[in-house]
Amino acid sequence: MAFQTAKRKIAHPGIRPLQRQFGFQSEGVHFDLREIFDALNARHFRNALRGYRITWGRRRREAPRAWFVFGTIHEGDRVIRIHPRLDQPWVPRWFLEYVIYHEMLHAVVPDVELPSGRRRVHTEEFQRRERAFPNYARARRWEEENLARFLR
Ligand SMILES: [Zn+2]
Repeated sequence: MAFQTAKRKIAHPGIRPLQRQFGFQSEGVHFDLREIFDALNARHFRNALRGYRITWGRRRREAPRAWFVFGTIHEGDRVIRIHPRLDQPWVPRWFLEYVIYHEMLHAVVPDVELPSGRRRVHTEEFQRRERAFPNYARARRWEEENLARFLR
């Protein structure tokens, strides 16, 4: 996900990357990630994403304080992980679809290496395609308005 709000730019010192060793669980209480992934893959990517797994991340006892990562993609393993706090009845399906769509876009839009040697992942092409998502504006607005509910 993009980190464009001030809050999300603050890295929490205690944060650890999502671990790799947990099992894969795409069925949540409220949402089935696999079903959403497959529908998005057909509708927006001509089923171009093959061999990907999508799973809820591990549930943690404590909510993050300042930094919230809705989703991640690990290209090497072809794994998309979605934060389990999104599996709640008050989260609109179209917002979760946007989160998953964003991660899926990373699989098809290449990173760009900057002169500094750093990699840019949210390139102009990425952002153009992200904005083309039908609920993009609505999802970004919802994210701004509801971010605090995901934090402590
Ligand atoms: Zn991203």
